[in-house]
Amino acid sequence: MEKQRIVQTLTACGFREKESVFYGVVEEYPTMVAVPGRDQASTITATFTVRQAPAGALRKALVRALKEQAAVNQVQGKTIVLTWQERKGQRLEEIDGLMQTAVQTLKSHNVEGPEDRCPICGQTECDAYVRYNGRYEAVHQHCIGQIKTQAQRQAASNQGSYVLGIVGALVGGLVGIIPTVLSICLLERIWSLLYAMIPLGAYYGYKLCGGKLNRAALATSIIVSILDVYVLQLVLVVIALITEYQYTMLESLQLLRQIVGDGEFWVNITTSAWDSFLFLALGIWIAWSQISRTHKSDLKGIENVMETMTLKAGAQPMEQQDDGMEQTLEG
Ligand SMILES: [Zn+2]
Repeated sequence: MEKQRIVQTLTACGFREKESVFYGVVEEYPTMVAVPGRDQASTITATFTVRQAPAGALRKALVRALKEQAAVNQVQGKTIVLTWQERKGQRLEEIDGLMQTAVQTLKSHNVEGPEDRCPICGQTECDAYVRYNGRYEAVHQHCIGQIKTQAQRQAASNQGSYVLGIVGALVGGLVGIIPTVLSICLLERIWSLLYAMIPLGAYYGYKLCGGKLNRAALATSIIVSILDVYVLQLVLVVIALITEYQYTMLESLQLLRQIVGDGEFWVNITTSAWDSFLFLALGIWIAWSQISRTHKSDLKGIENVMETMTLKAGAQPMEQQDDGMEQTLEG
């Protein structure tokens, strides 16, 4: 079946597409319709939102009746999921009729449409539907609008300075090497895991000093961390010279100054530190998971939700907020 024909049917029924899922309402049941496939589609899966799926004997009767129409994927909680297949002789381009028949079956088994209650504010008289908590649910446009405004405000307040961030990362990274230095001085051994503290120190330094939280935070943390691994190696050389060869601090620094010009020295400390880079990567990964949880992703999340919105019959679209703010978020 050409997917385009199914899409036409759904669009004509007021469904709205977002990433190959179609959102709309069949009678009083908010419905999400997945049509897999790029050009051709051989199955359609619809997720109906209901007040409460029945239990016991009622559920058995309902499942039996639905199975005559489609494969029954789920009859549980607030969702009922059905799949129609082309090879069973079903005309997928008539998806509107297939869904209508299913909805009549729901009604004849006393499965009501969902309660008119907004999950955000808990009030009734909803005027729109959005995908929320994995279901297509009735909401208020103004409740979703408020969440968006809030996310925009938070994202816009994420303004920082790269220079301050880099200074913070340098200081934070040095703080991050202290645990390793201490473990060597006090316990006379290296805990490789402590290397993970270096990028975390750099990242929190960057953040505390007001660095802008975007990809630059990650790049700065990585570069500073790698530099700090070398700083740490130099500190370890000095500590070894003092404790094992009884050099004074001044003598060891003078010796260090002679050997830093030697390329082989840098190759040596790079190879001796290679395993520390593994733990460095661990710390970078933790820092990155912190960065990606910033407000910008909140805003993207609410924008994705808004793209699934359809209005209740007769509802007026709420006036759109000025989207000019989004321009300032780039970069
Ligand atoms: Zn509400």
